[in-house]
Amino acid sequence: MDFKIALIRGDGIGPEVVGEAVKVMEKIGTRYAHRFVFTDTLAGGCAIDAAGVPLPKETVEVCKASDSILLGAVGGWKWDVLPGHLRPERALLGLRGELGLYANIRPAILYPSLKAACPLRPDIVEGGIDICVVRELTGGMYFGDRGRRENAQGYGEEAYDTEAYSFLEVDRICRTAFDIAMKRGKKLCSVDKANVLESSRLWREVVLRVAMEYPEVELSHMYVDNAAMQLVRNPKQFDVIVTTNMFGDILSDEASMITGSIGMLPSASLGASHCGMYEPIHGSAPDIAGKDKANPIATILSVAMMFRYSFGLDAEAAAIEKAVTMVLETGYRTGDIMSAGMMPVGTKEMGRLIADVVQ
Ligand code: NAD
Repeated sequence: MDFKIALIRGDGIGPEVVGEAVKVMEKIGTRYAHRFVFTDTLAGGCAIDAAGVPLPKETVEVCKASDSILLGAVGGWKWDVLPGHLRPERALLGLRGELGLYANIRPAILYPSLKAACPLRPDIVEGGIDICVVRELTGGMYFGDRGRRENAQGYGEEAYDTEAYSFLEVDRICRTAFDIAMKRGKKLCSVDKANVLESSRLWREVVLRVAMEYPEVELSHMYVDNAAMQLVRNPKQFDVIVTTNMFGDILSDEASMITGSIGMLPSASLGASHCGMYEPIHGSAPDIAGKDKANPIATILSVAMMFRYSFGLDAEAAAIEKAVTMVLETGYRTGDIMSAGMMPVGTKEMGRLIADVVQ
């Protein structure tokens, strides 16, 4: 089959890690007889340099005309002096909005061969960790009504942010989470604060309603404070977690830390259509850019997510994940995941090794 993929290589280590992901996609294309048509397009700091804005209109058009988007990373010291609306990171918010990407999916997987990188006690993570956090991305407090006003009791200026969720917003993110749970361990934990927040009580009602359509999925509910504790006490109890924008922001960072390195973690942002945006969770790492030091695995695993969630290519996704596992088990390591007795490799070599063993 043919697939059109927009490549936003971006800034810093972005072009390096995307380059390795392209190598792996080309190998998959040959092995499985798919044609991946890549279109390079600019966003972030490089777009500011070339076109004066972080997200040129042409980039949005290229993305909308593609089957999916692979993004490296944007940003860097050079553009840190610019005002907020012109910062490279605005490109990410712009793309999410333009493409209606309301679901952020972040798997946190601890590979058994990387156990030494995990900050938790070995007995807690024995057998590996494999959690998928599904975070609502375009609603809640980050998008609610906010402002400043004079306090009614005469305490001076006060500031407020509003947590608001509509039925539709909760319904669609829940469906995404249940669909993902069906493809994994069929366990879903909905995280809220329904003992305090009215928006959480609506959230829970909608989750229960959607659950009736997924009788095979074992559903549980957890308050967010307990979830934060359970993630470090017993992370193996979780399969898929679904939660609000703000709770998901916090919990997905907590979950990702369990896996050791930021260079290992992929993510997907999905909307109503099959076109998603896939990217490593790390930034542009200006401190190691251009030095062949970046770990390309997070970007390569983002391609596996693209294949699974946007293209329905489950076997191809599994082939990439298996290749990553094989290379790690053989003992190859980039600097961020290095430990005693392992073989050091650079960005390019890591990409080549993974592409070589893709079956
Ligand atoms: P960062 O993720 O770029 O780097 C944090 C640390 O992790 C650095 O020491 C870096 O060397 C290391 N690191 C990151 N990715 C790595 C990889 N693949 N392999 C090995 N080491 C890796 O975060 P930061 O330093 O806070 O941000 C740098 C720039 O990136 C900023 O301009 C920030 O705004 C931007 N940023 C962009 C995104 C994105 O594009 N989605 C996300 C986060 C930060």
